[in-house]
Amino acid sequence: MTRSDVALGMPSFPRAADEFAGADPQRGLMDTFGRKATDLRISLIDKCNLRCTYCMPADGLPWLSKDQLLSAEEIRRLVRIGVDRLGVRELRLTGGEPLVRADLAEIVRSIREDHPDLPIAMTTNAIGLDRRVDELVDAGLSRINVSLDSVHRETFAKLTRRDSLDQVLRGISAAAEAGLTPLKINAVLMRAVNDHEAPQLLAWALENGFELRFIEHMPLDGDQQWNREETVTAAETRALLSQQFVLSPHQQERDGAPAERFDVYARRDDQVPDEHLGTVGIIASVTEPFCADCRRTRITAEGRVMSCLFSREEFDLSAALRQPGSTDELVAQHWAEAMWVKPAAHGTDRPGFDLDSFHRPDRSMSAIGG
Ligand code: SAM
Ligand code: SF4
Repeated sequence: MTRSDVALGMPSFPRAADEFAGADPQRGLMDTFGRKATDLRISLIDKCNLRCTYCMPADGLPWLSKDQLLSAEEIRRLVRIGVDRLGVRELRLTGGEPLVRADLAEIVRSIREDHPDLPIAMTTNAIGLDRRVDELVDAGLSRINVSLDSVHRETFAKLTRRDSLDQVLRGISAAAEAGLTPLKINAVLMRAVNDHEAPQLLAWALENGFELRFIEHMPLDGDQQWNREETVTAAETRALLSQQFVLSPHQQERDGAPAERFDVYARRDDQVPDEHLGTVGIIASVTEPFCADCRRTRITAEGRVMSCLFSREEFDLSAALRQPGSTDELVAQHWAEAMWVKPAAHGTDRPGFDLDSFHRPDRSMSAIGG
């Protein structure tokens, strides 16, 4: 019997049932390489009000219907199963754009009720956040990362295909005022669009007390235009920032974090880097991947487990959640099985390192949940 004969999983290709034999929810979300996922990312919705060129096509994508999306109650249950049975220790809500979901505060509140100490973070474009931030903090949201690639109106509009910079900046200010700190800013550099603005963006983040993280452009754009040569690499980003600042590797242990952090000092004419201005992170997912330390497990907006951003194999937990007589035990078992077969590194379908060839998944970043 192959795995595809076992009604609930939904792998893209058949696997023999004995490939899952080692999966044991008692050991948490462990994979065959001994990595254990403790960091859960749930996409709340695939829709978004921006159309970032590195993420979504200009015309959007065929959206999921309301019935296909996980309900607030299903999300609550999944988090409970993850935390109580499978060793999940942190949660990030993402999308698409999580703020597009009207019941976002209800979702946060219900999770907080179940897990008073769980860090609950959200990745957002911050549009409309100024109107909802108090409600979200009151519901129990711990932290946010805001995506912002430029503080120039024209560049922002070119990258996001929307003239919404003012709304994003309003959202960021409101979040800082509401105490959602340390507030992180995520930026993707695109060659000849905003790469030359990198030092300016860092200066803006430092002045405002935000921690900026540059993420290398990954082959997850809806337009499928990505190519490796055009990717602004981590090394190039460091060189760009060094035009204006002195970067020095941050001493603190990385501890599985995707970003390599640097202390930032002012670059003075006498070359003496004395004034510490803050830190900056660089996430080199393409050129310096950190798969060996990965602790992520992802659930898409329609309830499929993706063990890696680049998985082409998905496991449908919504079927396990929705079938009559569904038990938490059964859902945990399927989740553990999906994670057990996590590939060694991204770009690979099966265990075995293959870092030079990126096989892109069918989904774009917005449809996975970044
Ligand atoms: N809409 C929210 C936002 O933009 O923050 C949350 C979802 S978005 C998909 C999550 C993160 O993925 C954002 O920080 C975005 O910059 C990043 N992202 C999207 N497409 C990417 C790509 N092709 N390569 C690298 N990062 C990407
Ligand atoms: Fe929307 Fe975030 Fe993708 Fe931009 S990166 S299109 S804000 S989901």
